[in-house]
Amino acid sequence: MPLTAFSITRVGEFDVDQILEKLGAETGQAYASVEKIPDAWRTQLRTDLKCPDCSVIGAEVVRAAVADKSGKPRRQSFFRFTTPGHHPVCDYANPEKANAVPETLVAFGEAKSNLTRAVRNLVCTGIEMGIFSQGSIRSMRDWFFNKKVESMFVVSLDPRTYSWISALQQNEFHARGALPPDVEITPEIAALPNFDWQAQAARLVQDRYPQHVANMRKLWDVRIPMLGEVGKRAESLARRYAGRPVFNTTVLASEYRTTQTLSEFIAHTHPPLKAVKDAGASSVLAFSALLLFGRDWDIGKAISDFARISPAVGAADPQLGNVMGLNPFHDYEAWAALKKLQELNIQVPDEIDIKAERIAMDVELRAKYGAPPLAN
Ligand SMILES: [Zn+2]
Repeated sequence: MPLTAFSITRVGEFDVDQILEKLGAETGQAYASVEKIPDAWRTQLRTDLKCPDCSVIGAEVVRAAVADKSGKPRRQSFFRFTTPGHHPVCDYANPEKANAVPETLVAFGEAKSNLTRAVRNLVCTGIEMGIFSQGSIRSMRDWFFNKKVESMFVVSLDPRTYSWISALQQNEFHARGALPPDVEITPEIAALPNFDWQAQAARLVQDRYPQHVANMRKLWDVRIPMLGEVGKRAESLARRYAGRPVFNTTVLASEYRTTQTLSEFIAHTHPPLKAVKDAGASSVLAFSALLLFGRDWDIGKAISDFARISPAVGAADPQLGNVMGLNPFHDYEAWAALKKLQELNIQVPDEIDIKAERIAMDVELRAKYGAPPLAN
């Protein structure tokens, strides 16, 4: 249920009350309540308003009681698009997300923290200076939606993949200090008091999975961190979206790197953001992406625009920032990791416990070479 929609004729994003007030002012006819909207207005809204995500028209105004965070019912107005209805990959078409703002959308008008207030002021100033407009912000969302539609893929990654490669990574760590792969254990080596049997056991277990090293190299090539938080997030996305079509974020790899670079620059250079220094914040990424989009992703030109906006911040009308911006890179790394892991098609064996294999191998090696048994 979109709370805002984009008006084609007014070139801007409005919520229900804002659009009805506009209509009232334009027609000289005051509107009393959402329940009493004149039919002519309803007809106008059906052809004038576009869904914030997929751009479909056919808006209807709905007033409904929704539960707020504390569970209390609250009256809220929103738009519904039932005829012809949302595009199948529109975020608002997904019943699971229908009641939430899509994660890629960023309310530029928000001013809840120093950071969002600083970004709102940059956006308002940029609009006032004519560097971008509500219309170009909307065009960027259309561009993103088309990228999404063209690049969808179905999630088929075995969610156990991440734990499996993590276990192999850990085993690789344990193998440090072992003999090189082509050197056999001799009685002289086995007699060395500090010979690391655990490392040697890990090394031999590693040899059973030769694909692992090759896979790790391929992941390294795409510069996607695979372990830790990103890997865990990819695993949870794989479970949540199994069998469903999703956006392939990697089609935006070069835009992502450029946006990150610009965000870093802006977060360090714009005085109110310097204190916060959160270049990874959605609103900073969304603002940076907006500057780049307007300049066809030329970072030099985007920085020139920023250099004009930053010192001019202060006097712009804060209402100008009432627009939904876009951070096309929400969860970028986790989605990129998921896509890459899926491409590698790693077969996760059933019931293999790498740690148990390593211990068994350790026991076996010590017995074979007459070394002191593994201490418990
Ligand atoms: Zn839609």
